[in-house]
Amino acid sequence: MIDFIFTLDYEIYGNGHGSLKELVYEPALKLIDVFNRHKARLVFFIEVAELEIIESARVDPFINEVKKQIKFIKESGFEIGLHIHPQWYEARFQGGKWSLNNQEYNLCLLSEDRIEQLLNRAITYLRYLVQDHHFTPIAYRAGNWLINPAVRVVPALARQGIKIDSSVFKGGFQRSTGIDYRKAPADLYYWKFTDDANIPAESGLLLEIPIFTKMIPTWQFLRGKRLNLEKKAPSDEGLKDKISRRLRDFLRWKVPLKFDFCRLNLQELLSITEEIVTSDRRYHQGYKPIVLIGHTKDNPDIGMISAFLDYIRYKNIRTATFEETYRKLIDKV
Ligand SMILES: [Zn+2]
Repeated sequence: MIDFIFTLDYEIYGNGHGSLKELVYEPALKLIDVFNRHKARLVFFIEVAELEIIESARVDPFINEVKKQIKFIKESGFEIGLHIHPQWYEARFQGGKWSLNNQEYNLCLLSEDRIEQLLNRAITYLRYLVQDHHFTPIAYRAGNWLINPAVRVVPALARQGIKIDSSVFKGGFQRSTGIDYRKAPADLYYWKFTDDANIPAESGLLLEIPIFTKMIPTWQFLRGKRLNLEKKAPSDEGLKDKISRRLRDFLRWKVPLKFDFCRLNLQELLSITEEIVTSDRRYHQGYKPIVLIGHTKDNPDIGMISAFLDYIRYKNIRTATFEETYRKLIDKV
């Protein structure tokens, strides 16, 4: 049996550029509508660090609409997950733009005390956003997918009541940040872990349900909408530096393509779905929770997403939240 878990990272660009209205509020509004029309589930990974800092600096008046929207999302029955880009917490707004603190880019590398402090702060702010002081998100996604080294961050997440991580994307490799998921278990759809997200551990503190990827030839990756979006995303390094840094990550024959409902075209989405369905029929390996990813800032094509939701219904694939998936998996792991 296959469940699709659609997840959406709710945030502006990674270097602080862009407006909440265009990059967060408006695309989310359209996605809420299309998922509601199809009675489909969607998990919103709310990036709390930027929202807290933008609110306290009073630089984007649209924060008030965003806060109302998050409350509405929760009340409408969509799932809320925790997403943190810690480089925002010591950010400064200077000369009309944000300068972020890249010393704290990877939460996993900070001290135990600092991790605890930032997680407390993140969850407190998320509770304030949804206006429910008892709310605890079940799922977490790390900023820039950085869940390793997991040894300090995972026990801290578990102490907060988080049960699931969805940061791993199999085959992932980024020289600049140290991401390396090339050794993640190729044949598992979920596993428990504590010290290293690549290594399943029977009594692990968190359940990993990775973002689904497909390994494709590198030349095939470097074309189409994807490359345009990579070029468009503003960054503090020049375009030439950015491209040459990314090309170093691509010095291999195959790279992972994330199952991304905002970046892939319909043909790519259908072909990945077909492969998952075929492998399910052929091998019957039991329950398969498949995580898809999207970003509000990627200008999602609502007509295409609507067609894709029609298609998966026709294929009898259900959409699920992490909460529902966790209940199904709890006695299996
Ligand atoms: Zn993010």
